[in-house]
Amino acid sequence: MKLILSEFEEGVSIPVQGSYDAKTIEVEFPDMLYTAPILLNGEAEKNGGMLRLQGTLRTAVQRICGKCLKEKNEDLSFDVDWIFDLSGLDAIEPLENVRELLIVEHPLVHLCKEDCRGLCPHCGIDLNEGACNCKENGYHASPVIIKKEKSKKERHHGTS
Ligand SMILES: [Zn+2]
Ligand SMILES: [Zn+2]
Repeated sequence: MKLILSEFEEGVSIPVQGSYDAKTIEVEFPDMLYTAPILLNGEAEKNGGMLRLQGTLRTAVQRICGKCLKEKNEDLSFDVDWIFDLSGLDAIEPLENVRELLIVEHPLVHLCKEDCRGLCPHCGIDLNEGACNCKENGYHASPVIIKKEKSKKERHHGTS
């Protein structure tokens, strides 16, 4: 989105819109993939050497939980209100603002929920959905000893 300043009249707000590709502007993360273009819609107004851009940034992502690896699709929407200093410029490209917003918004580790229990490191079961016995066994691959109790009937078999 390039806002050509000569197309603006002082104090007159005009509608603006732009679209960015997540890959091109490098805002993708391994655990946050964009499933839609990044759309910026709003109004811009030039005033006293400044340009104010107010609008909404929308996109959609697929997030992957850092613990249980569950995928989840999410729509993102941010209200923006940016002011640009026009000194020495004849056009404004809000790309850096867009990138900053999306990157800052990305958490260091995304979790599907705050208390996600993750996957069992031993058997791989999703501990949010069920429990396994690995913890009781100390996560070691100790052989399971099956005690086979002989029935009294068997024990006395053939002795009468
Ligand atoms: Zn999770
Ligand atoms: Zn397990």
